[in-house]
Amino acid sequence: MAEITARSLQVLTRGEQIRSAVLAARNAGETVGFVPTMGALHEGHLSLVDAAAAECDRVAASIFVNPTQFGPHEDFAKYPRDLQRDLTLLRQRGCDWAFTPEPAEMYPPGFSTSIDVGPTAAPWEGAARPGHFAGVATVVHKLLQLVPAHCAYFGQKDYQQTLVVRRMAADLNLPVEIRVCPIVRDADGLALSSRNVYLSADERRRALALSQSLKLAESLVRAGETDVAVLRKRMLAHIASVGGVAVEYIAFLPEDAVVETTRIDGPVVVAIAARVGGTRLIDNWRI
Ligand code: AMP
Repeated sequence: MAEITARSLQVLTRGEQIRSAVLAARNAGETVGFVPTMGALHEGHLSLVDAAAAECDRVAASIFVNPTQFGPHEDFAKYPRDLQRDLTLLRQRGCDWAFTPEPAEMYPPGFSTSIDVGPTAAPWEGAARPGHFAGVATVVHKLLQLVPAHCAYFGQKDYQQTLVVRRMAADLNLPVEIRVCPIVRDADGLALSSRNVYLSADERRRALALSQSLKLAESLVRAGETDVAVLRKRMLAHIASVGGVAVEYIAFLPEDAVVETTRIDGPVVVAIAARVGGTRLIDNWRI
């Protein structure tokens, strides 16, 4: 029979509580891994918890739908929330602490500081979602103050976010190692996302065009195609043939860069953003 680990999970809502718990573990010589999330947990999030549990003695996760990283016309109000289910999943995966602050705990009256990460945060997601990365960088920095972990775990799914977080951590001398874990996908290739619950059955089928076009780009590159204009055209043609998917951008980014290349002459990350019905999806593929 499969064994489910049931470690005791402490649920903490106050910054000072999680900070003292983590510092006590550190003072006792334990290593701590931290997984920041916005909840509505799926196997993508849980793969980060697994990675933290594999590498660290103790694991903390945060569940906080961060208002400052949503634009005024985005889905903050309707973003999926199911705290009890999330806590059960964290408990099953051996998480030690869940930090579940209220917005007022993170943003007391008068809050006005914001971290601008600069050029890394400007294009692509930054251009499509003004203010998004300032919200992300600021909340990640705050969370790392409250959860002073040795390692913090992020998903490759939000590729530009990993570049923004790494830049911020390096520039502001944060004493934490940033780890990036692979994208977890459904069997048919759709990258797991909390926003996938918005998709109707028909939209979900159309959404497969994102990962299919990324795989197409990879196979064309393997067959010798190096011209990014050709690759983009082929991807767009495939997506158009599926229908119902409005592409916002397809970017060919040399590893760790946000300025696009025109020719494939080394490792690249192909990043895509598109709308399927009312749902905005992102995905990427390392070639
Ligand atoms: P979110 O709750 O959307 O803010 O995501 C929390 C963390 O989980 C981020 O570091 C995401 O990149 C990561 N994540 C989300 N979806 C996936 C996925 N399908 N595979 C791996 N990591 C993911």
